[in-house]
Amino acid sequence: MRKPRRQALRRLALGSLLLGAAWGAIAQAQSTATAASAQPEGASKIVQNPGWHFQTQAVAAANPLATEAGYAMLAAGGSAVDAAIAVQMVLSLVEPQSSGIGGGAFLVHFDGNKVQAYDGRETAPAQAGPDLFLHADGTPMPMKQATVGGRAVGVPGVLRMLAMAHASHGKLPWAFLFAPAIRLARDGFAISPRLAALLATETALSKDPVAAAYFYDAHGRPWPAGHLLRNPDLAAVLQRIASEGPDAMMTGEVAQAMVKTVRQHPSNPGLLQLSDLSNYRPVLREPLCTHYAVAQKKYRLCGMPPPSSGMLTMASILKTLDFTPAARLPLAGGQPSADWLHLYSEAARLAFADRAAYVADPAFTPAPAGDWLSLLQSDYLQKRAAAIANQGPVMPQVQAGTPGALPTPQSWAPMAEQTEHGTSHISVLDRWGHALAMTTTIEDAFGARLMVNRGRGLVGGFLLNNQLTDFSFSPSGADGKPVANRVQPGKRPRSSMAPTLVFDADSGALQWTGGSPGGAFIIHFTAKTLYGALRWGLSPQAAIDLPNFANIEGTTFLEKDRFAPSTATALRARGHQVLEIPLTSGLQVLAREPGGWAGGADGRREGVVLGD
Ligand code: GLU
Repeated sequence: MRKPRRQALRRLALGSLLLGAAWGAIAQAQSTATAASAQPEGASKIVQNPGWHFQTQAVAAANPLATEAGYAMLAAGGSAVDAAIAVQMVLSLVEPQSSGIGGGAFLVHFDGNKVQAYDGRETAPAQAGPDLFLHADGTPMPMKQATVGGRAVGVPGVLRMLAMAHASHGKLPWAFLFAPAIRLARDGFAISPRLAALLATETALSKDPVAAAYFYDAHGRPWPAGHLLRNPDLAAVLQRIASEGPDAMMTGEVAQAMVKTVRQHPSNPGLLQLSDLSNYRPVLREPLCTHYAVAQKKYRLCGMPPPSSGMLTMASILKTLDFTPAARLPLAGGQPSADWLHLYSEAARLAFADRAAYVADPAFTPAPAGDWLSLLQSDYLQKRAAAIANQGPVMPQVQAGTPGALPTPQSWAPMAEQTEHGTSHISVLDRWGHALAMTTTIEDAFGARLMVNRGRGLVGGFLLNNQLTDFSFSPSGADGKPVANRVQPGKRPRSSMAPTLVFDADSGALQWTGGSPGGAFIIHFTAKTLYGALRWGLSPQAAIDLPNFANIEGTTFLEKDRFAPSTATALRARGHQVLEIPLTSGLQVLAREPGGWAGGADGRREGVVLGD
């Protein structure tokens, strides 16, 4: 980063924290080719980010105002966790489509010595059961019907999780971390091009009167980019949380407002109760770590264990590829080749079959063979990989493997893939060499499309999640076996979020922190970026910029307009069903480089990196 900019930011950190003005400078510096898509959380811009370089500390987040708030905390002597909290509070305001205090998150933290996995995932209300998303005749309801309204609202977990992480790793006072978000909420922030683009294509949000009064003008038109939006309700709530802690949201007036919003929804009420909110507890978990060798170099990948499937599935793909010729295939013309994509897609199908069968909240569903790492054992994956034909054709059908003795009941029915979108990723490194990767979500774009109580006593101003749609809508398979990830009271829905830390396995030195939004595609976006860094030697920015690809339940997805036409042709010749669609990752990555650190942010969204 150039010096004048750094000095300017330090003034912001130590002085008035006038962060509202910062948007313009950064947004103008990027050319904005806006390409709004009809997909939830679809593309909003494609810019060529330069990549960033720094020496000691940095923050990478999905919106410039949020990044600046995090950077202000680092510059004021804060820790990585301090910065992440400031970022999250600003994201609640400026990127409400993706994450916020009404949602949940996972945070993987490195304190220079040990790695810890903080689970702030939403839980199902105590009154919710396996039939939550079933019609009276037992058929599952359509995703959209389940999403909009109170039914899918899970107990928000992000705030108590952040408070837990702050108690162990915070250096600045809790209240100080809220200053940027409170100021921006009170004084207003300029609506970003991405928020404006998503509002322009959104159809359900304006049906909620509280959201309609906030996101739309008096004629029902969504506010355009650049409009100065104020959120005094959120400012008031954040002020209370700043001085009283998370109980200011999870109990009392704000909790009552959430429960009312959910239970009194006119067409799709939910089951949230005050006791669900007051009883919510984040979980401090052992991270899921596994070794990954690239030639002579040994890495240790660490991420969230279940209820997230993120690290488990990503590591399964990467390790399965080791039993194929993939490692001998370099990029072709700066892109993954059809040969490589074939192997990747097949490895992904195997990994996703295991995910569909086994992964759910470990408090309800034991790991196969008593250990999630059984799904990553070399001999197990080697046997699975033997089914892959190197030159095609694609495997006809893929089923979950049997990594060891299965728990009772003897097996689960596989969960059908369901759509999921609406998330943000934050990576931070602080001056002590402590770091984190945090992925945070309200599930769909704009979550449940429910905004808590604007204008009725200043106890809201935030959107509620629809995270319960990450459960299987069908509680059992065709054969009557239960689905591991079915709805049960107090259970956490399976996630795809993959906040990832990578270490040099020999020295223990941190190498990489990253992650992405994108529903189940998160696993592929993160795998691509990690593979690009570790195997193809790419900088974070170059790895993020590689075209995206994925395989979900057999369809091979290629990012539209990014691959040579011959790639899809070659894949189809091997029997792949290929779909070319926008694949809007939102990757944020910090990685060690000779003499310092490099940062990358996804030009498909609005992220930026700031550091010293
Ligand atoms: N709800 C999803 C999950 O937790 C993430 C959705 C998204 O990334 O858009 O896996």
